[in-house]
Amino acid sequence: MNPTIRLVLGDQLNPLHSWYTTTSKNITYVFIECKEEASYAPHHIQKVVGIFTSMRDFAQRLRDQGHQVWYHHILDSTAAELSSILYSACQEIGSSSVVCQEPDEYRVKQYLQKLNSTTLHLSFESSEHFISSPSEFQEMFKGKKSFLMETFYRKLRKRTGLLMDGKEPHGGKWNLDHQNRKKLPKNHLLPPVYLPITDVTEVYRDVQQAGLRTIGTLQDPKQFYWPTNTDQAWEVFDHWLNHKFGLFGDFQDAMTVKDWALYHSRISFALNTKMIDPLEVCRRAENKYRSDPSIALNAAEGFIRQILGWREFMRSVYWTSMPDFASVNYFNHKSDLPDWFWTGKTKMKCQEHTITQSLQYGYAHHIQRLMVTGNFALLAGIDPDQVDQWYLGIYVDAFEWVEITNTRGMSQYADGGKIATKPYVASANYMNKMGDYCTNCSYDHKTKTETNSCPLNTLYWDFFDRNRSKLDTNFRLGMVYRTYDKMGPELKDQIRKRAHYVHEHLNEL
Ligand SMILES: Cc1cc2nc3c(=O)[nH]c(=O)nc-3n(C[C@H](O)[C@H](O)[C@H](O)COP(=O)(O)OP(=O)(O)OC[C@H]3O[C@@H](n4cnc5c(N)ncnc54)[C@H](O)[C@@H]3O)c2cc1C
Ligand code: SF4
Repeated sequence: MNPTIRLVLGDQLNPLHSWYTTTSKNITYVFIECKEEASYAPHHIQKVVGIFTSMRDFAQRLRDQGHQVWYHHILDSTAAELSSILYSACQEIGSSSVVCQEPDEYRVKQYLQKLNSTTLHLSFESSEHFISSPSEFQEMFKGKKSFLMETFYRKLRKRTGLLMDGKEPHGGKWNLDHQNRKKLPKNHLLPPVYLPITDVTEVYRDVQQAGLRTIGTLQDPKQFYWPTNTDQAWEVFDHWLNHKFGLFGDFQDAMTVKDWALYHSRISFALNTKMIDPLEVCRRAENKYRSDPSIALNAAEGFIRQILGWREFMRSVYWTSMPDFASVNYFNHKSDLPDWFWTGKTKMKCQEHTITQSLQYGYAHHIQRLMVTGNFALLAGIDPDQVDQWYLGIYVDAFEWVEITNTRGMSQYADGGKIATKPYVASANYMNKMGDYCTNCSYDHKTKTETNSCPLNTLYWDFFDRNRSKLDTNFRLGMVYRTYDKMGPELKDQIRKRAHYVHEHLNEL
């Protein structure tokens, strides 16, 4: 029998995959650390180190179980491309037959498909990770111009039985989003966060020596705090279930200078590398809710909605909309991302805190991504290509299928409303309502036309003014335009002048 190669990509570390149920001398698992994959965009150092460490750990576990493993470390050769390293593996193993799990990224799928030739036979099998499939999504939204997450989410709730009582949603309502909007009280004490500690010194050294271009920092390689295997990932999750889950719902949209994750679970890296299974995550959350009266329904529903709803939804939107989605730019935005997105050095407290923590941890929670940096980028008219590159690089959990749909679609409205029913933009009014950034800021959150007025206030009205022809028929924006129309011509003129100044001085904000 001809030997078979099974290629395992860095985001396919799923120990439950049926591939691993039996061992065979004829099957070799190939892992490739390569420059090409680690540098198609500048990634956060913690993302690169985290993926390589997790790959090495996973490969070792397979060896321990008796599987054959061929591993290419980043310094094993000077070859940069995945293809040439894969050809070397084929030669050494004596096989021309490569099986891959379906890649999550369009770019990777195209790349691998091109390798399929007379000399190398490449085929795909399911990654056995997701709860839904893009084809069922396409069937559901056939002929529709926009996709509604809620419709998809309800269908999956019914199919999986998650938070269902028979045919009815548990508690009588499908979605408790309106109960997820509390500000953190002033003297609120956050429960301790659990960080699994791994010494990644060796991988860190390899990455430095290989000269990979990265962003952000890794303060102490002896104390890496993202899970690098399934056991650690479940430890993080179970600790979160016991200590933070209960208030996830209430404070899902809260923001504070005092912390970097609040009540969020920080499991996205483990989920996206497939160390843990999304359905199992949802089931554990539901079991905890059903067995512990201190867990509120708005926490359970809110959390399950993120995974069963948003995460599955975004994956299908991605596979339904690529490759065109990668270049949509509804507002024709062209401005450059300010330099301070790479340093955090800005006087705008909300941006400074979110960007600094992103550089430091490779993480920001959802509302920071959407309503702080994303909000600024959209209001300031930043080119979505640059916004995408930033989001793809800076977060440890960033993989194109879930990054680009959230960035171009949900956050930048660059798809003209395929995903979001209105642009997610806000002035300091919202920021001050949901967090404590404004009280710590040099700008005045109450005004919009003064020299020290919050730039978001000015840009907010300017955004609606500039894009009126594209937005004023949106029924969700009627109130915004009615408020704007009540402003006198003098005030409107002052807003335009100040907005012009802000647009011209983005780097100095
Ligand atoms: C502009 C922008 C870019 C984003 N880029 C990414 C990205 O590259 N990778 C990524 O995994 N998520 C991305 N998100 C979604 C979300 O912000 C992160 O999943 C979340 O912050 C991860 O932190 P957590 O694990 O603590 O999440 P929690 O708040 O604890 O949520 C639990 C899980 O739900 C899932 N989830 C929550 N919101 C979303 C969403 N909108 N889309 C898909 N899944 C969701 C994630 O798997 C997350 O781990 C982005 C959101 C925005 C607005
Ligand atoms: S005043 Fe404006 S810039 Fe400052 S923190 Fe508030 S919203 Fe951000």
